[in-house]
Amino acid sequence: MITAIQSYFSEEIISITPLGGYDNLNYIIETPNSKYIFKTYIYDEYTYDLLVEENKILIYLENFKNIEIPIPISFNNKESLVIIPINNERRICRVLSYIDGTFLGETTTCSKEVLLSLGKTIATLNSNLIHFKSYFYKSRKWEWNIENLLLNKKYLEDIDKVENKRVATYFMNQFEINIIQKAVGLRKSIIHNDINEWNVLLKENKVTGIIDFGDVAYSFTITELAIAIIYATYSNEDYLKNALLIIESYHAVSPLNEVEIDSLYYIIAARLVISVCNSAHSRKTNPENNHALISEEKAWKMLHYLVATNPIYFSNTIKEALGFKVEKTKNIEEVKKRRHKHIATILSISYSKPIYVEKAAFQYMYDAYGNTFLDAYNNIPHVGHSHPKVVKAGQDQMAKLNTNTRYLYDILNIYAEKLLSKFPTSLNKVFFVTSGSEANDLAIRMAKKHTGHNNIMVVEHGYHGHTQADIDISDYKFNNPKGQGQKDYVVKTEIPDTYRGRFTKNDGTAGKQYAEIAIKDIETSPNKIAAFIAEPIVGCGGQVPLAKGYLKPVYEAIRAQGGICISDEVQTGFGRLGDYFWGYEAEDVIPDMVVIGKPIGNGHPMAAVICTDEIANSFNSGVEFFTSFGGNPVSCAIGLSVLEVIKEENLQQNAKVVGNYYKEQFGKLQKKYPCIGDIRGSGLFLGFDIVKENSTQPDTKLAHHIKNELRERNILISTDGPADNVLKTKPPLLFTKKDVDTVVKSTELILENYYNNI
Ligand code: PMP
Repeated sequence: MITAIQSYFSEEIISITPLGGYDNLNYIIETPNSKYIFKTYIYDEYTYDLLVEENKILIYLENFKNIEIPIPISFNNKESLVIIPINNERRICRVLSYIDGTFLGETTTCSKEVLLSLGKTIATLNSNLIHFKSYFYKSRKWEWNIENLLLNKKYLEDIDKVENKRVATYFMNQFEINIIQKAVGLRKSIIHNDINEWNVLLKENKVTGIIDFGDVAYSFTITELAIAIIYATYSNEDYLKNALLIIESYHAVSPLNEVEIDSLYYIIAARLVISVCNSAHSRKTNPENNHALISEEKAWKMLHYLVATNPIYFSNTIKEALGFKVEKTKNIEEVKKRRHKHIATILSISYSKPIYVEKAAFQYMYDAYGNTFLDAYNNIPHVGHSHPKVVKAGQDQMAKLNTNTRYLYDILNIYAEKLLSKFPTSLNKVFFVTSGSEANDLAIRMAKKHTGHNNIMVVEHGYHGHTQADIDISDYKFNNPKGQGQKDYVVKTEIPDTYRGRFTKNDGTAGKQYAEIAIKDIETSPNKIAAFIAEPIVGCGGQVPLAKGYLKPVYEAIRAQGGICISDEVQTGFGRLGDYFWGYEAEDVIPDMVVIGKPIGNGHPMAAVICTDEIANSFNSGVEFFTSFGGNPVSCAIGLSVLEVIKEENLQQNAKVVGNYYKEQFGKLQKKYPCIGDIRGSGLFLGFDIVKENSTQPDTKLAHHIKNELRERNILISTDGPADNVLKTKPPLLFTKKDVDTVVKSTELILENYYNNI
């Protein structure tokens, strides 16, 4: 080796030592007076041109003399690159000056001094490079330039954990929306583009050298700062606190503008995404190669931290630190006043201190002040707020075609087939509409048409929607002190509640007893019943599951007198209950109609009535049915994506596992605090009944106290039930055990304080 190189090299080579690490084709050369880095690369034209360009930058930077950088050393032939055969391979060889110091990666914790020095150094580097022109770099389009983030999309498939894949995909989508579409205020220049902990050299707690200019790019200048922040902070969980030190000292040398500050969150995330995508891909193509595993884990941790932190908080914190004006107190009263100018107060707002939301991601909602709320309440964003796959499905279809069912288009058929595959074969017709209310209204109309009967049997405390027909069948509404009262065609039957009701043995005994009451109601109804409608778990009634063994005899009795059975799965459907995809499955019955809504479109206004052929045929003979929006292509695309995500991310199983854990943890709390009278529900559709001690008497005040205190601790749940004393929790199905711990720990603290203060 020495002889091969010596002939090109003017100084006497004493030794050549391979550099550590996985890449052993870089060496340290020692001569009597000096040390050099000797680097070799397999020859190809592109690499050669790249190295020529890199050497130009190094020579350019050398003039500034404010940062130590490797300087290209010429060979005997005056060239700084030579092609030498090494081990029978043509290799491009270069020699660079050796820079002394310890790597940033060798320091266990980065001190304040180091971080400040890092910010200053990279700002200096960026300033040095402002006027460096390179058409080569400007035209280089490759995956590690953040502007080309989307080139990494193909690697998303290589990410194995669903919780990671969805976050990476989310940040890719967010980058398109928040950076690519708004990039006007972002400065661009040639940047080093890889300020990682093994490319930064320190001497006495100061950054003195930067090495490895192999990833230089023409890109958003702020990317340099973003990359430096990642690698200098990702080993320690105080990310933002440490980042601020780097940012402040960077800003002192090279002032940032507000657009850059607002972008930093997304640019950091995007760079992390490039890194994890490439790691996932290289592991897939070369499973033995685990060299990046530790940094990969750190990168994932930081990405999840960013989701839980939120972009508003991130940029507000930076702006405050840099002395920018941050509007901290958006006046809620003003916002409310503006709303009430045109929106009636009957549309209520949750909490005495309303939440003024601006963005949301997965199980988090971000308010306008930069607070992150853990959403343990909203079941409509079933697969998570702003789920990237659902967002993309809507965007793509909206850009392609949106029309109505008077025309033929494939996605309606594809979606209908996919949705109906989730039902038993007898349920094989679907009517798409745009809300749960509309679906129940339609279901009742169809039931009446099919049976020729007029009466509807409903369950006490049930809720089925806001149209007149729905309100008439919703005890929750018509029986409200301000309600319209029970119509004479409505038969209300007692809620089969095994906690507070008259029969409590939930081994099938109570179910049977309640069914006997319902059957009596059917028999004594003056007119025949067209339909019996019930939710498997009565949500507005306080998350009350129908007693075991109840539905079957009631269904039989309804059918025996010529009626049909409807399961209102608006709340309980799509795997939320964990053990079952639809709530009725728990009771070994098959309804004649199923009404679905809420989670079906993850927030997009969709709903559907599923029924048998016979019922659909009866309806066929009536006046034409048409709805402008039901079953439109965009809704179908979104609905399809929701079904896909549930499957791909195994969310039904997650609802089961996390839901059981949730119940278990609240069970532990119940032992300590008997005010938790009952823990009920299934999967991630749960209710915690708050009672006065040693009774089943509702403690509404305490339930509200817990709800409001949880809100103060940035956790969203609600209360419901006739006495409004049941804590209601039905989070997006990607909720984790860690999220459960957050809710349970906070509830425990609230109860502890509460009892200490009475
Ligand atoms: N059925 C049930 C069981 C519901 O909980 C709701 C809404 N809370 C509806 C129907 C009505 O659905 P929407 O609000 O979409 O009209």
